[in-house]
Amino acid sequence: MRQLWLEHIVAPTHRNHVCLLPPLQLFWLKMMIGLVMNVPTVPVKNLSGSSPVHPALAGITGILMSAAALPVCLTRPPKLVLHPPPVNKSDIKPVAGFGHYCRKTTKKQARKGKTPEEVVKKYLQKVKSPPEEDCTICMEPLVGPSGYKGPAVGPISRADSVGRLAQCGHQYHFQCLVAMYNNGNKDGSLQCPTCKTIYGVKTGNQPAGKMEYHIIPHSLPGHPDCKTIRIIYNIPPGIQGPEHPNPGKPFTARGFPRHCYLPDSERGRKVLRLLLVAWDRRLIFSVGTSSTTGESDTVIWNEVHHKTEFGSNLTGHGFPDPGHLDNVLEELRVQGITEDDGLTEK
Ligand SMILES: [Zn+2]
Ligand SMILES: [Zn+2]
Repeated sequence: MRQLWLEHIVAPTHRNHVCLLPPLQLFWLKMMIGLVMNVPTVPVKNLSGSSPVHPALAGITGILMSAAALPVCLTRPPKLVLHPPPVNKSDIKPVAGFGHYCRKTTKKQARKGKTPEEVVKKYLQKVKSPPEEDCTICMEPLVGPSGYKGPAVGPISRADSVGRLAQCGHQYHFQCLVAMYNNGNKDGSLQCPTCKTIYGVKTGNQPAGKMEYHIIPHSLPGHPDCKTIRIIYNIPPGIQGPEHPNPGKPFTARGFPRHCYLPDSERGRKVLRLLLVAWDRRLIFSVGTSSTTGESDTVIWNEVHHKTEFGSNLTGHGFPDPGHLDNVLEELRVQGITEDDGLTEK
């Protein structure tokens, strides 16, 4: 058994056998075996041939292999295909119905000059007699005062102390909503902390960068009838602004440019249209802690999934994935971006 296993390792060219180690590693492995056994290096011929291998040698090899944690597997792993085949520049075409190839970060929308209190009030209805419930922001009863005593929250009349969000009906202390608003982007929008209904236009804190998109003449697995939309995001590292977790501190940007893929179908183009809206609203990326590496103060994806694996699906970020476009549309909806937003975008 061991003998056979060793043969697999050291006989890369043997018929029907999979090459398990690259030649250089094989060379060193054989050198090490020779040194440990205090005998001359074993010629390859003898091992790949039919002559028996010394049992002690096989044992030592086993130990060396596991200690060095060298790759030992007897079946070929599925192949990761991250990138499409090479594409000539002349084969890259614009996406039908989209005017431009590229979207740079637009200037931040000018503040409307409204105070946080005015913004919050805009989305609230008056509540004459608050219910016997707790405010889910401060966990204090709605009939009592707000548990939040922030510096930015001024005194408030009893009549305005509780409000109902107009669309979803959830009720909070007015001061609690103002405190929550002050803690966010202060972009004129408000999100119900209970049901996530968005009031106004939600924006994010994606750092400045560039989003390119075009058609490449290759098909994605599961989408044989159409070509592929390639999106290339590029965000350079920089310094965090007031909207980021640590203003004034640098942030890193790993793995850019990031290449992402969508099928060039009607539905794929719809998703692209909405991703452009999300980009302009700074909702594709954020600055925070990477869930993969644990690195803080770095550019991270912001809950809208992208496919970064062109030709396989080993990471879960590839194709085929029949539910992908529906999932993205739902994730965009959660960010306040619906198909109506796509209609006005070009
Ligand atoms: Zn409260
Ligand atoms: Zn709500």
